[in-house]
Amino acid sequence: MQVLTGKSVYNDVCIGKLSFFKRNKSVVRRVHIDDPQIEIERFHEARESGVKQLQGLYENALKSVGEANAAIFEIHQMMMEDLDYADSIENIITTQEVNAEYAVATTADNFAAMFSAMEDEYMRGRAADVKDVSERLIRILSGDEETSQTGDEKVIIAADDLAPSETVQLDKSKVLGFALQGGSTNSHTAILARSMSIPAVIGLGFALGEEMDGKMAIVDGSDGTVYIDPDEETMKRMAEKKAEYDRKRELLAQLKGKETISADGTKIKIYANIGSPEDVVKVHDNDAEGIGLFRSEFLYLGREDFPSEEDQFNAYRDVAQNMAGKKVVIRTLDIGADKKVDYFNLSEEDNPALGYRAIRICLTQPEIFKTQLRALYRATAFGNISIMFPMITSVEEVRKIKDICAEVRAELDAEGIPYKEDTELGIMIETPAAAIISDDLAKEVDFFSVGTNDLTQYTLAADRMNNKLAPFIDTHHKAILRLIQMAAENAHKNGIWIGICGELGADTSLTREFLKMGIDELSVSVGLVLNVRDAVIHTDLRKED
Ligand code: PEP
Ligand code: MG
Repeated sequence: MQVLTGKSVYNDVCIGKLSFFKRNKSVVRRVHIDDPQIEIERFHEARESGVKQLQGLYENALKSVGEANAAIFEIHQMMMEDLDYADSIENIITTQEVNAEYAVATTADNFAAMFSAMEDEYMRGRAADVKDVSERLIRILSGDEETSQTGDEKVIIAADDLAPSETVQLDKSKVLGFALQGGSTNSHTAILARSMSIPAVIGLGFALGEEMDGKMAIVDGSDGTVYIDPDEETMKRMAEKKAEYDRKRELLAQLKGKETISADGTKIKIYANIGSPEDVVKVHDNDAEGIGLFRSEFLYLGREDFPSEEDQFNAYRDVAQNMAGKKVVIRTLDIGADKKVDYFNLSEEDNPALGYRAIRICLTQPEIFKTQLRALYRATAFGNISIMFPMITSVEEVRKIKDICAEVRAELDAEGIPYKEDTELGIMIETPAAAIISDDLAKEVDFFSVGTNDLTQYTLAADRMNNKLAPFIDTHHKAILRLIQMAAENAHKNGIWIGICGELGADTSLTREFLKMGIDELSVSVGLVLNVRDAVIHTDLRKED
């Protein structure tokens, strides 16, 4: 047995034969031509047919994988019609007196190299797209057929990388999974694999070789492992894991796309909590309706120095774009207490949980805060982002925050940088003080989200990191539930929405209670989204408990 490791794109397991993707790659030869104008005409005609083909692919993809994923073919059309791209091809034809195929292939290599060298991961992912577009043009120019893959048997497709159009054109009923040498989790192929719910592991490198064609394999998308010629024990373990996924998929099939609404008609949104842009994959897998808490401090952890505005902007923008218009609540950094970072130079404290943390750092070190806010506001232009502030205890803090946000917006205005003017600003209700003055706080912000993890520790005076206190921590304590209720009433009286993003939101023994309180949104760990939706659907507030 050989064990290969890569990056998971879609969490599921499949077992079957490996089949290497065969490509009718057109062989491009450099041919001297006498009349460049004829070649330029050929290029124009090929481009016209290419755009038509892509329009057809867009329409097919729209039906099979939805608008957000089909959009890749619109991008391909734009790439194909791009003026710089055309200029490059025409220049090569004229200056080098060569055939259109060669000019397209050279341009593709140049553009792909340029994209691959970019810092931005999203832009690096576009290298595959420009190659795909160019390959299509070359095929049209040389009159080659498109690749057709897969026989009658269901197989695991192995390849160096797959172009988005190759992925969409595969007969999905014959594909068990994908194992790819290259690829990035942000590539459109990865996005398509996810939306087609196909287990996939990418970035396996040359450990995955063509000599493995036809061998038995297992793709374990839960941890990015591919087993070739699995032994009996692995086979058994993986078959069990697959059965578990199958059960979960059944639940998903019943609940996916369904509105989260109780039997008596009470609506609530189920969002997911994430810590990094990569988690968006799981958000989609579990059909969450949005992201209710992106713990942005994870971008600050595990590194030597502050993340730059650009690093942060890229992360926030990627999440917003990948969520395709669904709400993404990003919390500003919550460093301190249990989340320690050396370069913040925080001094030792006797009571770190009651200490210099979160918004307290941001308000006393506005340069750190402003860098994050600039990145956040810039990213608002790419999706549906709301900004949330942690550890609030007073109205004054919120007013200071809003002043700093106004300064950041004024800077962006002066620089002509776009952002969403009416970006929602909200706060976490995670201190008893915030819950108790939630009537005043509600007049200052657009939404509340209850952080029950901290609200519990502060209300019960019990350190959430101290295991010895477990017997003293009653998460259903009346004091906590009353504080949540109070915040919910004050939110609604003032016309704003309220969610819960602490762990208690996923406690299905309280789902009924939260529906009764009129909580608008529950943001839970991704793996629990469907459980909570299930609990809501099976609740009927007209009936007694
Ligand atoms: C909370 O306190 O409930 C919360 C969601 O924030 P964190 O767990 O990150 O402190
Ligand atoms: Mg908290």
